[in-house]
Amino acid sequence: MYTFDKSNEMFLRATRLIPTGVAGNKNPIFSIPRAFPVFAERGEGCRYWDVDGNAYIDFLCGFGPIVLGYNYKKVDDAFDAQRRMGSAFNHPTERTVELAEKLVELIPSAEWATFGRNGSDVTTYAVQAAREKTQRRKVIIAKGAYHGSHAWCTPREGGIIEEDKRHVLTFTWNDATELEDLVSKHKGDVACVMLTPHHHPSFAEQALPAPGFWADVRHICDEHDIVLVCDDIRDGFRLSINGSAEYFGIQPDMTCFCKAMANGYTLSAIVGTDEIKTAAAKVFFTGTYYSAGAEIAASLATLEELEKQDAVDHMMKMGNMLCMGLTTLAENHGLQIKMTGPPTIPFLTFANERDFRRNQLFSKECACRGVLFHPHHNWFIMYAHKEKDIQQALDVADAAFAVVKREFGS
Ligand code: PMP
Repeated sequence: MYTFDKSNEMFLRATRLIPTGVAGNKNPIFSIPRAFPVFAERGEGCRYWDVDGNAYIDFLCGFGPIVLGYNYKKVDDAFDAQRRMGSAFNHPTERTVELAEKLVELIPSAEWATFGRNGSDVTTYAVQAAREKTQRRKVIIAKGAYHGSHAWCTPREGGIIEEDKRHVLTFTWNDATELEDLVSKHKGDVACVMLTPHHHPSFAEQALPAPGFWADVRHICDEHDIVLVCDDIRDGFRLSINGSAEYFGIQPDMTCFCKAMANGYTLSAIVGTDEIKTAAAKVFFTGTYYSAGAEIAASLATLEELEKQDAVDHMMKMGNMLCMGLTTLAENHGLQIKMTGPPTIPFLTFANERDFRRNQLFSKECACRGVLFHPHHNWFIMYAHKEKDIQQALDVADAAFAVVKREFGS
C-alpha cells in the first residue's frame, strides 16, 4: 500500500515558508489531502514517481504539458543542444523565427506568432491586442472557464479590486442566444469573446461544443466587429496537430497555446490573423526570458515529433480505450459514471454524486494502486501511454470501482 508521509512532511515544511505551501491546483486541498502525492521526484515515459518513491501511470501529465512522455529523448536533446550554446541571450535565436514559421505552417488561422512563458501571458496579451484593435473594453468568457491567474481572469479574490474584473462578462457555455443578448446589451463596447475549444471547468463535467455553437459565436463576433480568441492552452496539440480550432471547425482571430507545445518546457505562444497584427504589435510584450532559446528548440522538436509519429491519432485510440473500458467496468459494478470531454482529455463523474465523494474515493483507491487520476480536474492522455498501460490502469480502476460500490452501494 502506498503512503504519502514524505509528501505530507514536505508540505508542512513548505507551508512555513511558501504562501499556501504549494500554489493553485497543485495544493493538496484541491485533490485528496494526505492520500495523494504533493511533491514530485522524477518521470519516465508515462510513469511518474513522487517523493515517497510511489510510481504511477500518470493521467495528469503535469496538468497537460507532458504530451509525448517524460524525458522524451528527441525533445530533451534539442533542448540540451541549444542550452549548451547558452541561454537567456541578449537577443532571440534563429529558433524563435523557426517556431513562428512552424506555427504559421501548422495552424490554418495563423499568419503571425509570438511567444510567452506561461498561458496567462498570452491570454492577457490577446485581451490587450483585442482592446487595441477595437478600442473597446469588455471581454466575454464562459461561466466556469479558466483563462489564467492574472488579475482580469483569476478565479480567486485575493488582491483583486472591483475594477480588475469590471469589464469581464460571462455567459453560459453553448448558449449562443445568451451570448447574443450580452453583446447587444453592451453594444459597441465588447472587444473580444474568449473561449476554450471545449468547456473544461474543474469540479464539473466537461462539455463539447454543441453543433453550430462555434459557427454562431463567429457570426455574432462578425456582426459586432468583436475579436474571437480561442484559448487552446489545454486542448492544443491533443486534438489535432493543426490546433483544436481545426478539429472543431472554429475560425478564430487569435489562438493561445502553452502546455503541450513544448512537452514540459516553459513556453507559450499566441498566433493570429493579419487583420489583428498591427494592433498586436502595439502591445508591449516582453520579459526577462523572452530571448531564451532552449525552450523554443524543445517546442520545435515536440511539434516535429507529434507530427512524425501521428501522435494525436495514437492518443485518441488510447483515450477511447480508457473511456470505453472505464464505462464497461463501472457498468459491471452497477455504478453509473459519465465520461466527458474528448478522448485525449477525458474526465469521469459519477451520475448520482453531488459533492465528488465518489470521485475522491475512486481517485484515492487508484492512486494507492499506482494510477494517477485526478478527482476534480480533467485528465490527459500522452503519446507514451501504450495499450498495456491503459490495460493496467483499467485493472486498477476495476479494483477501485469495487471499493466505491462497497462504500456507496451505487
Ligand atoms: N487557459 C487555459 C484553458 C488553461 O488550462 C490554463 C492553465 N491551466 C491557462 C489558460 C493558464 O495557463 P498558465 O497556468 O500557464 O498561466
